[in-house]
Amino acid sequence: MYLISSRQMLKKALREGYAVPAFNVHNLETVQVVAETAARLASPVILAGTPATFSYAGTDYLVSICQEAARRHNLPLALHLDHHEELEDISHKVTAGVRSVMIDGSHLPFEENIRKVIEVVRFCLRYDVSVEAELGRLGGQEDDLNVSNTDSFFTDPLAAKAFVARTGIDSLAVAIGSAHGLYHGEPHLDFERLAAIREQVDIPLVLHGASGIPEAMVQQAIALGVCKVNVATDLKIAFADAVKSYFIQHPDANDPRKYIVPGKQAMQAVVEEKIQICGSAGKL
Ligand SMILES: [Zn+2]
Repeated sequence: MYLISSRQMLKKALREGYAVPAFNVHNLETVQVVAETAARLASPVILAGTPATFSYAGTDYLVSICQEAARRHNLPLALHLDHHEELEDISHKVTAGVRSVMIDGSHLPFEENIRKVIEVVRFCLRYDVSVEAELGRLGGQEDDLNVSNTDSFFTDPLAAKAFVARTGIDSLAVAIGSAHGLYHGEPHLDFERLAAIREQVDIPLVLHGASGIPEAMVQQAIALGVCKVNVATDLKIAFADAVKSYFIQHPDANDPRKYIVPGKQAMQAVVEEKIQICGSAGKL
């Protein structure tokens, strides 16, 4: 198998009323955990990487590792560009084998966002690459960018309708109250707004910042048309906490083949839980 676009994956999810989880991966071990768990549960999954992740791991390394994971498990996998902003960067990664893209122009004024997205959609069509874009702006921390609550704003349903019609994107990331990184206090999602967006837009919707959102709220969002649920922080915390406690118990440990194992096990439990919440098991 090879790396696929997320277009058909998300269309099927929309038709059948579940969501595909998108997990942010960083290295060999995180790709192994997500791919193995997805194969075991027969779940479609998206492996996502931000620009900083691709810089850290190397695009060639990351593409090769994900291709190998798809082949090894006979699993159609989408490697997805999370929060990418530049066409040149995107085109380089598409040429390297990526088939699923998010162009994030959410920080731009409406017309500029549209112009930027159209440019990327035109390029991606030639390679049968799926395109996600964002309207509205999430708060929180993504890579090195910190968006304060006052700079974040929610997606307007009518603007979303025009945005989707004019750009021809495959999926739309909506800002309805979720945030990147850790939540301070109970998160609140604006379900009325999500329902209003759903009435105006018939393509799959994407929920970013789903770490830390209670299961019932994620499932309500899925019932209202969210087809892709992004998870990053919950995986990082599980992995890091397990490795930290291993070192506390084994202060002299120095073998990565040993101290990484509890991190992978803890991450695997989170991946299983998110697949269950999304209802994607058995949907391959
Ligand atoms: Zn995001």
